[in-house]
Amino acid sequence: MRGLMQDSPLTIDTIFRHAEQHYGDVPIVTNGPKGVTRSTYGEWADRTRRLGGVLDTLGISADGRVGTFGWNSQRHLELYFAVPCTGRVLHTLNIRLFPEQLTYIANHAEDEVVFVDRSVFGLFWPLVDAMTTVRHVVVMEDGGDAELPDDPRISDYETLLAAASPVEFDVRDEGLAASMCYTSGTTGNPKGVVYSHRSTVLHTMAALSPNAFGLSVRDVAMPVVPMFHANAWGIAQAAPAAGAALVFPGPMMQPENLAKLIVDEGVTFTAGVPTIWQGMLPFLAGTPHKLREIGCGGSAVPKALSEAYREQVGIPILQAWGMTETSPVASSGVLPRRLEDADDDTKATERARAGIPLFGVEARIVDADTLEPQAWDDTATGELQVRGPWCAKEYYNPDAGAVLSTDDGWMKTGDVAAMDSYGSIRIADRTKDLIKSGGEWISSVDLENAIMSHPKVAEAAVVGIPHPKWDERPLACVVVKPGETLTEEEVLQHLKPLVAKWWMPEAVEFIDEVPKTSVGKFSKKDLRAKFAEYELK
Ligand code: ADP
Repeated sequence: MRGLMQDSPLTIDTIFRHAEQHYGDVPIVTNGPKGVTRSTYGEWADRTRRLGGVLDTLGISADGRVGTFGWNSQRHLELYFAVPCTGRVLHTLNIRLFPEQLTYIANHAEDEVVFVDRSVFGLFWPLVDAMTTVRHVVVMEDGGDAELPDDPRISDYETLLAAASPVEFDVRDEGLAASMCYTSGTTGNPKGVVYSHRSTVLHTMAALSPNAFGLSVRDVAMPVVPMFHANAWGIAQAAPAAGAALVFPGPMMQPENLAKLIVDEGVTFTAGVPTIWQGMLPFLAGTPHKLREIGCGGSAVPKALSEAYREQVGIPILQAWGMTETSPVASSGVLPRRLEDADDDTKATERARAGIPLFGVEARIVDADTLEPQAWDDTATGELQVRGPWCAKEYYNPDAGAVLSTDDGWMKTGDVAAMDSYGSIRIADRTKDLIKSGGEWISSVDLENAIMSHPKVAEAAVVGIPHPKWDERPLACVVVKPGETLTEEEVLQHLKPLVAKWWMPEAVEFIDEVPKTSVGKFSKKDLRAKFAEYELK
């Protein structure tokens, strides 16, 4: 017997129409050097339909790839919908990647047009001739002042929009590609993940659920996580689906500007990587605000950081785990009911976990080679593997060897994790960041967490350095808080009661700043390169 329900396709135009029909008066705000620009979902919907007309006028193929190169803004949101809702594929380019990576990605995806914020036009334009399929460059005025050359490929977003007619959106096939995003490629070439309409709609519903972001009409959502990286964690689709007001930082990404925007616009929900919240703590501490939740992920959220927010800002950080390959949100560290009355430290330890998979995602830990399941005892570790309708099956035209799925259909994450008896995930490390000492593994994440619990430490990153006897040993790279002084001995004394003896760092290096990746995560690759020839004292 078959179910007798309607078989409506799960397509992104359903989100669009829902916001257009029901939330026309809900505000959308974008920050810029000349102050904020105010709009509504009603105006956004009208402009998005006309942007669909612009893509037709530019002659973009029926499933053509449309690149974007810009900050979080209302125009970026217009592209997020006009492109997939006309059957085309949105390709968000990460503005912080190296030039060779950007041209590789644009050529690999075969972008036909790229929409570029004027403030980053200077970064983009020198690459355009190497992007062999790009025929048009559309400039979005965001208050930037880059010189625009006289070139027939360049046109202006607002001029095109003013001349365009609105189009109907009616995508019938939920399996169509909607957008693509390349992982930053710490090894080998960047790899393309292609999201479908179906995967995006299902991920939106999961992101909306209270165990994740729980957005509603009562929220004012501000994605700090970039729209050029991992779909701004789904907030750009979830907010219109829920009727939450949106606040975009635009190019004004400095901590003081972000904090001011949170306060001025009454932001209730925001999300970004840990380094963002580290930088914003002094600006938010003790400041009146309306925040109810701060989502954080992309790398381990230090327990000390979450606790500092709880104590000084009034709400702990909500940790989420995910990858570009998982759309990206796959699990969240919401506090389980059994710990509601636990002491603060127990709660903080629980919040430092990647947590329970969101409904729709299944997770397992296995031996990466044999796929032998590992015990859920919070001690045994294995490769974390996931499956579900918003996890990628394969990469787009991958290089040989870039295999994502196991033979039995699970996605390999490259993360090493333990799971407790409830199946809550604790990320031990990325496989490539684990430190192999005398045949045993040391978790750089655990060591960093322990070091960052020292009150004088601003940031700490731990990498393996070659060692003649032990193969590798941990080197702690520590950034001291401004105005404080700290010695190697003090760091080691602090660690003594917190970690096993053989985990103790071989040495402590004090550095001015931990190098960051294009999306603001600690760049262990750069640190390893910096200390490759490290001479132990
Ligand atoms: P990349 O960082 O390689 O550019 P992603 O943004 O897709 O690409 O990163 C995904 C990776 O980020 C995960 O595999 C994991 O190692 C790390 N990560 C994400 N969230 C967390 C978290 N909450 N705790 C620890 N690591 C995390």
